[in-house]
Amino acid sequence: MAYHLGVRIDRMLNGMGEGPVSGGVPGGQGSPVAPGPTFSFEFFPPKTEQGERNLYDALSDLRPLEPAFVSVTYGAGGSTRAKTLEIVRRIKRDFGLEAMAHFTCVAATVPELRATLDEMRAAGIDNVLALRGDPPKGEQQWTKTDGGLEYSSELVALLKADYPFAVGAACFPETHIHAVSPEEDLEHLAEKVRAGADFLITQLFFDNALYFDFLHRARRAGIEVPIIPGIMPITHVGQIERMTQLSGASIPAGLRRELDARRELPEEAVRDFGVAYATLQCAELLAAGALGIHFYTLNRSPATRAILSALKLARPWERAIYAGSISSPSATFGEPSGAS
Ligand code: FAD
Repeated sequence: MAYHLGVRIDRMLNGMGEGPVSGGVPGGQGSPVAPGPTFSFEFFPPKTEQGERNLYDALSDLRPLEPAFVSVTYGAGGSTRAKTLEIVRRIKRDFGLEAMAHFTCVAATVPELRATLDEMRAAGIDNVLALRGDPPKGEQQWTKTDGGLEYSSELVALLKADYPFAVGAACFPETHIHAVSPEEDLEHLAEKVRAGADFLITQLFFDNALYFDFLHRARRAGIEVPIIPGIMPITHVGQIERMTQLSGASIPAGLRRELDARRELPEEAVRDFGVAYATLQCAELLAAGALGIHFYTLNRSPATRAILSALKLARPWERAIYAGSISSPSATFGEPSGAS
């Protein structure tokens, strides 16, 4: 098993190349990391000792699947600053996996943001996901901290000006929940990319058509960086309803009917269905040329392990009907690659 530490995620993704992926070897040049799509896992810093044990158990379970990288969120209100850094360090040191720290503008002045970034640099972190962040718990409205930053594009600019990290950012196929309009949200996303974001990871979604449409709009708006779909396997009905309510993501009518039908059934019924649904979603995305999948694991391993094991066996990216159409900004969207 070959792990590669100290690898910038932008270089992994750009090494993936454009056009059909054949034999699991990306068409592009200089891929420094594993061939094929970049599968990554997102974790959050737990609040309890038991939660921490669960997190490291999940990491041990998922490590054999050789993720390209693992990311660790930054708690609401910037509450997990030290924990996020500690977990990222430990993932790199003890698990030998590449890791990315999420980082937000919440409740911090620019000098405080810089102090954390200096700490990240000293810790040998190479990848940062730059976010505005959500308001601290109990607060509905986003308020800029005095002496701090207002939007993630400012954080991206600060990072690119003075730090050597690969910088990722968030994007929203169904439009950010507080955006004025889809058009303005996309324009602000383009600003974020112009400020230097090297790649984007999407908010969770359950209808691939929304992602394909978003990708199409983003490419037309001149956004050319890799856009990695973020997928959350459904394991509990109530939890997914809360998450979608908070994020503004929609649950398609057919999916909602299937979840309703399982509300009173044992929990496994939802988990099994969630794995099947997410596997189909990922297979379609990869067959369409997606460069990778970012799994929102919620610190649990079984669903992600089942989905990714099946994908690695079936290798839908090798049977890509539309390969290159979405991985490559320059390719014609939606046209079978064999047509040209
Ligand atoms: P921004 O890019 O700043 O956008 C926020 C809003 O402002 C949008 O509506 C946008 O349209 C608007 N906007 C942007 N620029 C301008 C401008 N110049 N003028 C006017 N309006 C503008 N949250 C956490 O707290 N911790 C995490 O670890 C975390 N990880 C995440 C990971 C992913 C992959 C995703 C998709 C989200 C994550 N979030 C996390 C949630 C995120 O912080 C929230 O969704 C937040 O509300 C928006 O963050 P942003 O970086 O997209 O903000």
